[in-house]
Amino acid sequence: MEKMKEEGAGDETHVLAFPIPAQGHINPLLQFCKRLASKRLKVTLALTLSTIKSAHNEVSNNVRVEGISDGFDEGGIKEAESPDAYFEHFEVVGSQSLAELIKKQESSSYPFKGLIYDSHIPWALEVAKRYGLVTASFFTQSCANDAIYYNAKKGFLSIPVEGPTVSLPGLPILEIHDLSSFIYNWGSYPTFLDAVLNQFKNVEKADCLLLNTFDKLEDEVLKWMSKIYPIKTIGPTVPSIYLDKQVEDDKDYGLSLFESSKETCMDWLNMREAGSVTYVSFGSMCELGEEQMEELALGLRNSNHYFLWVVRKSEENKLPKSLVAEDKYSEKGLVVAWCSQLEVLAHKAVGCFMTHCGWNSTIEAVSLGVPMIAMPQWTDQPMNAKFVVDVWEVGVRVKLDEKGIVRREEIEKCVKEVMDQGDRGEQIKRNAFRWKVLAKEAVDEGGSSDKNIEDFVVSLLCT
Ligand code: UDP
Repeated sequence: MEKMKEEGAGDETHVLAFPIPAQGHINPLLQFCKRLASKRLKVTLALTLSTIKSAHNEVSNNVRVEGISDGFDEGGIKEAESPDAYFEHFEVVGSQSLAELIKKQESSSYPFKGLIYDSHIPWALEVAKRYGLVTASFFTQSCANDAIYYNAKKGFLSIPVEGPTVSLPGLPILEIHDLSSFIYNWGSYPTFLDAVLNQFKNVEKADCLLLNTFDKLEDEVLKWMSKIYPIKTIGPTVPSIYLDKQVEDDKDYGLSLFESSKETCMDWLNMREAGSVTYVSFGSMCELGEEQMEELALGLRNSNHYFLWVVRKSEENKLPKSLVAEDKYSEKGLVVAWCSQLEVLAHKAVGCFMTHCGWNSTIEAVSLGVPMIAMPQWTDQPMNAKFVVDVWEVGVRVKLDEKGIVRREEIEKCVKEVMDQGDRGEQIKRNAFRWKVLAKEAVDEGGSSDKNIEDFVVSLLCT
């Protein structure tokens, strides 16, 4: 690749990437685009028009952005009657808009050679095929979750699932509640269940599958999956500055759908001692109940450690009023509507991450060596939590009471277990450090993900 850089080859090879409009999908795909651009591909990121309108910052110079219509150009999914209605429109209007973008580019000096599409929109593959593009399906979740969905789609795992445990190739024995909530809570979100199963609807037609993970992280299941599909692990898709530092000026994801209180967080963290803060966030979509919010607030306060808690604007009204009024937060904690998560995780004051275990948050914490307290809510999060605790042993998982609530005592216990001196906490910290080293190794020059990215670039150059 170095050789290629010197010779300036590849400058004309243009690839289009297309994520669905959600923070957890845009971040990894945009990050991957930046990697490709650093290897001298020309890269365009297609975003829905409403995403472009609501973005709080500009995408990196190396990646050009083009708008795609999903039929809801002002508010996106929020404008639609239901998720069903949204996805139906997205497919019809999005296919057309994507085709127009590809056609428009055909008459320029840099027609698209390939499309990297979000695996949640398999119709994008059909559009790209019509124009003879190389196609890569980009999976934003863990391979373990993908494997579950593959088995369910192909009928090897029948749903609703029966029996207390599930045994599938490449995976540890799983309890029903380790599976995706769309599966164990069958019927809870039929539209989303369809979307995750349909990742495998036509993927055999794709030239390759790109996975935001790395070989050592999901060793067995990746080996199993690679016998079925041409997969390439390309993760962790975390900005280069946190890992290998190969990509210049790659310091953050670069497109936020939320306004971040970056300086407030950094100023507050700068005043804290190393390892003294619990960082708490449930990502861009999870909603906690009011009772759960109160238990969490009290548990964090009682833990006697500092906490930095992200409570999105739409969730703010559920914060327990009494506590806010007593101004307890300024003493021990800081609540913000959004932060620059990577900067927070990388800050030496942060000692652990209480997380919903969205895949990006999980792999970010793994990459930065931050111990986790897993508090999964729905979708793929339970399985990620299972791996955090039982496979990588980099965290603990909260226990729910019979009402499905995590009580304050449990929160307090988990924070203390990870943060305070003690055998388990120390072991978790050692493991977290080990995984951080392995994550860096994967994307560093010659590492497993780095090699796969290079292979992918070469495959585009040679087409
Ligand atoms: N994130 C952030 N600031 C926050 C909370 C989250 O920048 O205050 C980012 C986080 O770094 C991650 C993404 O938002 O890249 C959330 O993705 P994830 O898969 O963890 O969860 P989702 O939002 O999809 O549930």
